[in-house]
Amino acid sequence: MTLWRALKGRVGEAPIFEKGAPGRLGYVLPELDFAAADDLEIEQGYLREQDPMLPEVTEFEVVRHYTRLSQLNASIDTMMYPLGSCTMKYNPRSGEKAARMGSFAYGHPLEPVEFHQANLRIMLELGGYLAKITGLDAVSLQPAAGAQGELCGLMMIRAALTKRGDPRKVVLVPDSAHGTNPATSTLNGYKVKPIKSGPEGYVQAEAVREAMDEDVACIMITNPNTLGIFEAEIQEICDIVHEGGGFVYMDGANLNALLGVAQPASFGIDVMHINLHKTFSTPHGGGGPGSGPVACVAELEPFLPSPVVVGTPEEPRLDYDRPESIGKLRSFHGNFGMIIRAHCFISEHGAEGLKRIGPDAILSANYLRARLKDYYNVAYDTPSMHEVVFNDEKQKEKGATTLDVAKRLIDFGFHPPTIYFPLVVPGALMAEPTETEPLEELNRFIVAMRAVDQEISDHPEELKQAPRTAPARRFDEATAARKPRLRYSPPEGSPAGE
Ligand SMILES: *Cc1c(COP(=O)(O)O)cnc(C)c1O
Repeated sequence: MTLWRALKGRVGEAPIFEKGAPGRLGYVLPELDFAAADDLEIEQGYLREQDPMLPEVTEFEVVRHYTRLSQLNASIDTMMYPLGSCTMKYNPRSGEKAARMGSFAYGHPLEPVEFHQANLRIMLELGGYLAKITGLDAVSLQPAAGAQGELCGLMMIRAALTKRGDPRKVVLVPDSAHGTNPATSTLNGYKVKPIKSGPEGYVQAEAVREAMDEDVACIMITNPNTLGIFEAEIQEICDIVHEGGGFVYMDGANLNALLGVAQPASFGIDVMHINLHKTFSTPHGGGGPGSGPVACVAELEPFLPSPVVVGTPEEPRLDYDRPESIGKLRSFHGNFGMIIRAHCFISEHGAEGLKRIGPDAILSANYLRARLKDYYNVAYDTPSMHEVVFNDEKQKEKGATTLDVAKRLIDFGFHPPTIYFPLVVPGALMAEPTETEPLEELNRFIVAMRAVDQEISDHPEELKQAPRTAPARRFDEATAARKPRLRYSPPEGSPAGE
């Protein structure tokens, strides 16, 4: 710790550009047996004038640097990671191993289709599993993440309505929605009409009835929503939108809570995305890659991105003959590693195992709720699904905020829950424990949360110093957001600075 501090206030480890010395090598390449670039005639404009600013380090320095950096990370492998809306569950090692198998990892997507029959079979089977889980008719595995799945779904809705000769202009989005929902609508050229959540934290059918008119192309609804609450009037909402000639898009990021409990098609969903990297494992949180398959009803099937995997498990093939398709969204087989992990996750659990995920995830979230509600105010007095939203009403009276609670939790060995989201809850603190945390870990989290509240009662001003034991102290987030330093400049005196 003291060493870290001595590094001029830098985070843990100095950048690799400040390490090494001129002339140090990682490894030595054999002598060239062809002409070096210097001897070739290369058009002058393309030659560098200065050497690139690359660190000159030994392999050992590189290994140590990156190993130390990896040890500074917060991760699901080292701590409970109750980040709401993200479903940070355990990622089984079997899925990791399968995704790294040479035949999958090194298969070239431009090989003839006969050479990757196994890939296509996995895609065909996973599509079938997802159709069964959602109750919908057809699936595309192309979208690279949830947000691209949203884009895909809205493009399909636009194509279907255009075909009817009634393209429409407006998308209804509840106020608790994830930011990607209004962003997707706007990107597709739609106007967003926000719908207010009701007093119980879910959308009331009456509000949708009032907003519905002949300009509404669809509603984008998240169920359970980002408050962790089941949309109790979903069936009526779907009926209203359908009767008005619109479609229902479901943001399926919270599908974990429904596994084994409900099929979205049964309450009237037309098209939805599934975040494979949330519900069906894959390490995430560090920026991807993800995978956001889209499932839809038969009416929307012709518009799915092309190509679609069709045929039988014995003879799968890619169907490019899709004249009404919205086109290609992602190159080759999509983010195939995630597809393998999801296939492994689903086939390892089997139907019976999958049915336990939703109820177990819901039980964990309600356990946190029940054992913390006397200490932290719950935003809505409605039973939780997969996640529970608290706020800092009680802590504010004592001089501390949600940010202080989150930072202090780091000292207790927990990644903080999601904070200040969803936006409809001021000072929100949203915890999603998932089905994979054992009871003892949930109890440790409860003890930590209660201890933080006690500290706030005793000496709230000290919380402003948290975290105290993390590799980095509290950042100046306002300056970081307003004046980001986007270009690395080495300090004087370091090897890179000379
Ligand atoms: C995660 C999430 C998304 C976006 O999914 P990505 O895979 O990150 O693009 C959309 N909506 C909700 C509710 C989410 O939690």
